[in-house]
Amino acid sequence: MPLLRGEFLNAISRYKHLMTRFLDVEALGQLVREIGLESFLIQLSDAIRDDFKRWEQFQKSPRVANHVPGGVLELMPTADESLYGFKYVNGHPKNCHRNLLTVMSFGMLAEVQTGVPVLLSEMTVATALRTAATSAVAAQVLARPNSRTMAIIGAGAQSEFQAMAFKVLLGVDEIRIFDIDGKATEKFLNNLNDTSGLKLVAADSVSDAVKGADIVTTATADKTNAIILSPEMIEPGMHINGVGGDCPGKTEIHPQILRDAKVVVEFEPQTRIEGEIQQVNSDYPVTELWRILCGTTPGRESESQVTIFDSVGFAIEDFSMLRLLRTLAETLDVGQMIDLIPTPANPRDLFQFVR
Ligand code: NAD
Repeated sequence: MPLLRGEFLNAISRYKHLMTRFLDVEALGQLVREIGLESFLIQLSDAIRDDFKRWEQFQKSPRVANHVPGGVLELMPTADESLYGFKYVNGHPKNCHRNLLTVMSFGMLAEVQTGVPVLLSEMTVATALRTAATSAVAAQVLARPNSRTMAIIGAGAQSEFQAMAFKVLLGVDEIRIFDIDGKATEKFLNNLNDTSGLKLVAADSVSDAVKGADIVTTATADKTNAIILSPEMIEPGMHINGVGGDCPGKTEIHPQILRDAKVVVEFEPQTRIEGEIQQVNSDYPVTELWRILCGTTPGRESESQVTIFDSVGFAIEDFSMLRLLRTLAETLDVGQMIDLIPTPANPRDLFQFVR
């Protein structure tokens, strides 16, 4: 029987309502390019800071990790009162030998009230952006205010994003880069040389890179308790942005450095399992970043204090990214609307799709 006009319009509007916006890698890149990388990083850092400041409105849990030989596959969910988000992400440090990325990801956002998915997005590039933006948000309250020089150890996929976020959000103007693989360093220099406005220095060793730096970012990948930074490299007042230690049995910083520093984390229950602090006693005191951003706990307490952001990556950062992507993609009409969920005129008639 043909649909009456009212029923037809109703079906169309419901159908339209249930279309899900899809951002593939190209669409994500287009969005960032249209807005401009620097402006995008500023908007993203604002979104992350805003969400961390309303920390208690989120449902939170440590991510669900499936450990496999040579890697990990993880799900990262969270929700506030109106939106639910999750991200799938892996970490396979030996993937580069297979010509694959170490970290790959996608994510989605859904309405809490109905469960309707509103956004499905690539999150590999987005993860690099949100990790760098979160690192910079933390450094704004932990590094010395006049920090201008940053050492980056590990010139892999995350490294340029870290350099750009610290330039834009902290005013860092010199990066000293070191990687055990000269080709990675070369790639880093090629990507940033002409366009970044940063002074770039290729260091001969970790110590060479770190000496005199205001901020040290470690972003290496190896599923082991590596010692990338050892105590004698650390100078008073340094801020350490530890990005690569993010999994049980995968750390970069000597435990004595942790014991001598103020350690700030994202979500303590998750970082105790995955972060650098897995190497120290479970009662070693740490501060959650959101408390500093809310102004209830101090950030850096003196010029000479050594501070560490023990970054592992938390679901709220992905949520912030997804909600920003949704707003920007709707405004600029980027991406495509896909039929991810069936929309039968009669919601009890699902069988029609296979009849
Ligand atoms: P990648 O594999 O692309 O790059 C890692 C780089 O580290 C490589 O170029 C490698 O040569 C270098 N390296 C390895 N050991 C080294 C050493 N001893 N000294 C100097 N360089 C060394 O990985 P990526 O995507 O850039 O990620 C870097 C790390 O950050 C990974 O461990 C990843 O799991 C982690 N990560 C963390 C977060 C977070 O939120 N904290 C987010 C994304 C990635």
